[in-house]
Amino acid sequence: MTEQIRRVLVRSLADISIEQVPAPVPGDDELLVRTTVVGVCGSDTHAAAGHHPFIDLPYHPGHEAVGIVVATGSGADDFAVGDRVIVEPNLYCGRCAQCRSGRYNICQELKVFGCQTPGAMADLFTIPADRVHRVPDGMTDFQAALVEPLATPVHAVAKTGDLTGRTVAILGAGPIGLLTLIAARHAGAARIAVTDLLPGKRERALRLGADAALPAGAPDLVAQAHAALGGPFDVVFDCVAREQSMAQATDLVAKGGHVVVVGVGAAGATPIRLDLVQDREIRIEGTLMYTTEDYRAALSLLASGAVHTADFVTATYALEDAAKAFTASLDPEQVKVLVTVDGP
Ligand SMILES: [Zn+2]
Ligand SMILES: [Zn+2]
Repeated sequence: MTEQIRRVLVRSLADISIEQVPAPVPGDDELLVRTTVVGVCGSDTHAAAGHHPFIDLPYHPGHEAVGIVVATGSGADDFAVGDRVIVEPNLYCGRCAQCRSGRYNICQELKVFGCQTPGAMADLFTIPADRVHRVPDGMTDFQAALVEPLATPVHAVAKTGDLTGRTVAILGAGPIGLLTLIAARHAGAARIAVTDLLPGKRERALRLGADAALPAGAPDLVAQAHAALGGPFDVVFDCVAREQSMAQATDLVAKGGHVVVVGVGAAGATPIRLDLVQDREIRIEGTLMYTTEDYRAALSLLASGAVHTADFVTATYALEDAAKAFTASLDPEQVKVLVTVDGP
């Protein structure tokens, strides 16, 4: 009889279960990896709630994955059994114009491991060997689990060029907003304001080094923000991507400034002040995931100790309790919830 493994199946937020399925077998150029730690992402709870524009239910989650190689398919010779790895989950075609120009994060046929393919919230998973990175020896599994979430802000920040001496606003103090704060500071931003609806999340942003943390719901938010940091912002990262946050972004940003849309917007139309975009020469740019370069930068940023794991990893659950991990991750008091997998 083939070995059975546990794998998480998400049908909805109220229906998250563990199924028993045959252990996957690595194909050519693939690795078989035993999961040790896997993060619950905002996109996972979004998808489970049926709100993610690009993840269909049911699905098998787990794209923020750390694990140990337990078998190698033929051709996957760069890795050996026992190697500790993290997944870089963008699965790209390698042939389209975007891939050929190095921007495989926006591949025409992009699939994301653990979003459009079965992920790592399971005992074992298979993954193409070119989609994993070795974890450096001194790095813990919890640190390694933060590489994927940090790589997205690293990529977003890289889009804005040199941030040295510049003023930055970050809308939303969830995990991505807070990691954007760290990435922007590392990139040289002089003054950073963070906004959020919740006081607890604003306090956390201050603890992590924001120069100001402002109530996102305040009618005079823009005036407060300009007063707090002395004028309009060179760059605004919208980690919320809703009508209100985009309206604030186009009001907060300086003439000729740059708005980077980091959050996943709702499907369909979101109103934007085109009059301001045109009159102030505001540049609005989307950002999706990352490439290997960003992954390496996120790895070395974490290895340098710039991110304190305890500030981000606020709860852990065993694989059997994946449903609880999803529920916990909806709690605004949590930052990053991790699922730990000890083997069946
Ligand atoms: Zn994620
Ligand atoms: Zn492609």
